Amino acid sequence: MNGQEESTIAAVSSGSGAAAVAVIRVSGPRAGEAVRALAGRLPPPRRASLARLVDPRSGEGLDSALVLWFPGPASATGEDMAEFQVHGGRAVVAAVLAALFALPGVRPAERGEFSRRAFLNGRMSLAEAEGLADLIAAETAQQRRQALAHAFGHLADRVEGWRAALVRGMALIEAGIDFAEEDDVPAEARALARPGLEALLAELDTALADRRGAMVRDGATIAIAGRPNAGKSSLMNALAARDVAIVSDEPGTTRDVLEVALDLDGHKAILIDTAGLREAAGAVEAEGIRRARARIEAADLVLWVHDGSDSEALAIEVTPPPEAGLWLVVNKSDLAGGPMTMPAAARTFAVSARTGDGLDGLTAALAGFVTARAGGAEHPALIRERQRGAVAEAAGHLRQGLAGWEMLSDELIAEELRLAARALGRVTGAIDVEDLLDVVFREFCIGK
Ligand code: GDP
Ligand code: ZN
Repeated sequence: MNGQEESTIAAVSSGSGAAAVAVIRVSGPRAGEAVRALAGRLPPPRRASLARLVDPRSGEGLDSALVLWFPGPASATGEDMAEFQVHGGRAVVAAVLAALFALPGVRPAERGEFSRRAFLNGRMSLAEAEGLADLIAAETAQQRRQALAHAFGHLADRVEGWRAALVRGMALIEAGIDFAEEDDVPAEARALARPGLEALLAELDTALADRRGAMVRDGATIAIAGRPNAGKSSLMNALAARDVAIVSDEPGTTRDVLEVALDLDGHKAILIDTAGLREAAGAVEAEGIRRARARIEAADLVLWVHDGSDSEALAIEVTPPPEAGLWLVVNKSDLAGGPMTMPAAARTFAVSARTGDGLDGLTAALAGFVTARAGGAEHPALIRERQRGAVAEAAGHLRQGLAGWEMLSDELIAEELRLAARALGRVTGAIDVEDLLDVVFREFCIGK
């Protein structure tokens, strides 16, 4: 015990901002006492009871609230827990929290501390905790679905299945070690273990190659590029304005790259206006162009915007990375332009950022692109680099073991499998996690 787990924590768990009701959660050994101190009595477990809350220091009435009491260990955190549903005004919340923190042994919760305790008490796996963090942060329907699957342990189940396959392989090989005296048992045990391990390696490689989970979580990036005055900024504004729900958290506006997050049919996409690639004059602009090019190279899709009224010949001046698509958007369709020869490779859209002409078709195509890229990503995919790294390490050890199949001793092969299982254990938090906890739970907000 480090003392921290013995303290009782309290925080507002409902969303920030004004709301009719605020939920204040308390967790820890003194949660019951806290309820008695403020509500006068401990209500029956897991039932909402109306109570008048008073400040035990002054006897002053604070609010009329719903009080819920969840005795541990069958609570969300595994500890004694209580919930006060109070009126959402700032002053009420502040007064109730102040009364709670004035109680001995009760202190404000840190970020993610409720979830951390839930994890430590075996109420959720690490992958589930990460899913929960993503769920809280989800902006689009698709992100919500994926996070929900993780929060409910689908990834954890899948990884546990992988681990079980490794353990089975290990058991067979160790059986070989145990029976080494008897004639042909080792060879037989190994032969039995190999197909399952090969299948497992193929499955790990497939999971690692699948980037859909990350795509849903982080959004597909769509770079808008083109010559100065082609109408890139106008197009970006027009697309952003039409979009039903702009979900941009932090407008990533820098001097050279402007971005906005869109919700396209429930999928997140980040639209990047890369400023004119030829607008450079001084060193500062040159740096801006370098950054713009870097963003284009990392994009999932590049829209090359061409001014259709321009007499200058159409030329696409960017090379998208091999995996990305490049579409041609001929803008200013409202202005009369001469007939154009289109490059055969690019998908082409004629639009007017000014009148909105053609933008429906472009938006629908973008939604189709993002949906196809993300696939049915509510399946339990690896989302985070942390998960990916652990699975890659496991695949590495397994590959090593299989590669040395003919040369390595049973002990050495079993050791590679053990290391692989250990690495997988880090995904769900089954082993070796103490140092990871801070990294994971830091992402949570207070009250979660
Ligand atoms: P950027 O340099 O590529 O970002 O181009 P801007 O979006 O700043 O647009 C350059 C000029 O073209 C501005 O004067 C816009 O008002 C104009 N423009 C942009 N789109 C259209 C369009 O569809 N039709 C017309 N007529 N003008 C447009
Ligand atoms: Zn611009």
